[in-house]
This record gives sequence, C-alpha cells and structure tokens, in this order.
Amino acid sequence: MHSGAPGAYRLAGRGGGPLHSGVTPAPETDTAASLGAEPDVRLVQLTKRYGDVVAVDGVSIDIAKGEFFTLLGPSGSGKTTTLRLIAGFELPDDGRIELGGIDVTKRPPYARDVNTVFQDYALFPHMSVQDNVEYGLKIKKVDRAERRRRAEDALDMVSLAGYGARKPAQLSGGQRQRVALARAIINRPRILLLDEPLGALDLKLRQGMQVELKRIQGEVGITFIYVTHDQEEALTMSDRLAVFDQGRIVQVGQPAEVYERPSTEFVAGFVGVSNMLERDGRRFTVRPEKIRILDDGRPSDGEHVESGTVVDVAYAGMVTRYVVALDAGGELQVVRQNLETTSADALEDRGRKVHVAWRPQQTYAIEDGPPDQEEA
Ligand code: ADP
Ligand code: MG
Repeated sequence: MHSGAPGAYRLAGRGGGPLHSGVTPAPETDTAASLGAEPDVRLVQLTKRYGDVVAVDGVSIDIAKGEFFTLLGPSGSGKTTTLRLIAGFELPDDGRIELGGIDVTKRPPYARDVNTVFQDYALFPHMSVQDNVEYGLKIKKVDRAERRRRAEDALDMVSLAGYGARKPAQLSGGQRQRVALARAIINRPRILLLDEPLGALDLKLRQGMQVELKRIQGEVGITFIYVTHDQEEALTMSDRLAVFDQGRIVQVGQPAEVYERPSTEFVAGFVGVSNMLERDGRRFTVRPEKIRILDDGRPSDGEHVESGTVVDVAYAGMVTRYVVALDAGGELQVVRQNLETTSADALEDRGRKVHVAWRPQQTYAIEDGPPDQEEA
C-alpha cells in the first residue's frame, strides 16, 4: 500500500507497530475496525450548527485504542468544535458519540472519561506546579500521599522532576505546556484531547515537544486525539489523520497514504504542495521530491520526461525548491537536496531550460467530487 519510505517526514513513531516500520508492509486497510478491537472513540454523523454556520457537518470516524489520531485542517474547518463535542463542552445537533462502545452523546463533560489539553495551558497561576498537577485528584478526593506520589510520577514523565515547587510564571512556555500535560495524564483518562497544544511554542521547541509527546503517549498508552493546522506536525506524529475542510472529513488515512495519495485537490494542496497537472484529459498530482531535474543525466528506464523553464528558485538550506513551468502546460514544484549546490548556484538556475522526470507510478489521479466521508 505504501509506495515510498515514510521515513523522510516521519521523525517520531512508536516502535513495534506496523505503522512505523520501513520494512513491515502496511496493513491493507486503515480503519480502526480493521485493527481488530472495538473502537475507543466512535463518531457517527456528528453535526453541530451555530446559526447558519455548519461547524461540523456529518463527521464519522472510528479511532482505535491507543491510537494517535490527528484532526488536521485549516482554521475554521471544525476541528476544535469536533474536540469540544467529544469532551462534552458542546452538544451536537445530530449524530452520536461513543466512548469504548458506550453512547455518551448526552453526558456532561465530567461523566466522560476524557481530558483536554489546551494551547493556552490554563494553569492556575497562584498555585505551585505540584498543586496544579494534583488538582484533578484533589477534586476526586484522592488522599494526600497518593496525590503526591502520582504527581511526582507525572512530572517525572514530562521531564519536570524537581520543578514541583515553582509557580507557572517561573517556567518557560514549553515547561508550562508539560505541566498542562502532566495535569491531564495524572487523571489517567481513557482519551486525551489536545487542541493545538504546541501552537504557542517556537519551532525548535515545538519539534522537541512533538517527539516528547509521542514518547509520552507510547508510555501511557492513552488514545490521543490531536488537533493541528500544521501538516508537518500531523505527518510526523500521527498514526492516522483526518483532513478537515468546511466541517467535513475529506480524507482519513496513515500519514504516508494521505501525503502520497491525496484523494482530492484540496488535500493535495493542504497536506503538501499540490502540483496538479492535466495530461491527456487525466488530472493527477506528483510530489515535489519525486521529481528529478535531469541536468546532463538521462532519464532512467520508464521515467516520464518533460521540458520546461525554471521560473522560480528558493534556497532553503537543506533543500532548494524550484518552480518549473512546463512546455506542455502547468507548473510543478521540484525539491532537490543540496548535495553539492550552494545558494549562489541555485539562484543562477532561474530562467534555465531544464528537463524534469518522474516515475508514472508516483503520480496519483485526482477526481474532485463531493468529499468522501470515512470509509468505515
Ligand atoms: P477550527 O478549530 O478548525 O479552526 P472551529 O471548530 O473553531 O474551527 O470553528 C468551525 C466554524 O464554527 C467556524 O466557522 C467558527 O467561526 C464557527 N464557530 C465555532 N464556535 C462557534 C461559536 N461558539 N459560535 C458561533 N460560531 C462558532
Ligand atoms: Mg481550533
């Protein structure tokens, strides 16, 4: 099913499972049901309206126990509303929510086995880190010694052992987000909902926390439903992801599947660079890193070759991005690793006539019809 090695953009992954190995073939289907167990979370035709706005429009998903499942989509596409419906902060106009096979659609938030981590941390500023983390257990009247012990374990898990006495104001943004995470996992919820939890962090810290979150999820074994608008984050972290557009799911799948075989032009453009071409009445997409610029080299057997002109070049350190206008019509973005090239070389390529080549099996037909829902 996977036609390429996913390693290029999957920086983190839980070991062992077939989703993360470059060697083991991927499973034939990607629905949670096919993974064998009853879904941990099941959304059936979930719908939420605000006046004329249909924020969530008939969303159906099955999420397996222990899965890292991401809701990916542009701002306003209905991700947060979906999360709030699962948490019980909002009630749907239509549809059903099941957690562990039990219908919780009408239950209040406290009667659902879920916890939410928000982007803005929502820590109590006047309380110490320790008291913030213990808070949920205190509400549940867990005794003091047990609270203390579990809070220490949770802080240890998020690499904040020894920070218990500090106030949130004495922590960095990344550390505060870890406290928020510790405060959520200490309750050992069945499901953890995370709404753009790394959105406020700078790039370096965000990348570090992505790896850390994956590790923590692997250790606690809780089902994560993760909201982000950042495609790279979604590709890096998720077991599977659902791409949202205007309140609907347009594609569900493993990262490599969605990236390499987008089902619609919207997905192709949102999860990567769209690179749409039309040849002989067939519309298709081909990913920038699957295209070669043939300097003086010749195409390999079976490669499709076209001529064109480099109309734009962007040197980006590790790679250079070229935009090539093809003589037969259309434009392609091509990414090339900077093995030998310097920024000066790259910029000189502007205006050059080139040949580009790709393997036909690296192209995927796009038929833009009505968005398909989960193929469960
Ligand atoms: P996302 O999280 O993907 O950015 P949201 O779920 O927050 O999207 O919003 C989806 C749509 O619903 C948007 O058009 C938004 O303006 C609208 N919306 C969300 N919450 C409310 C609300 N409480 N009242 C009115 N409209 C809302
Ligand atoms: Mg949101």
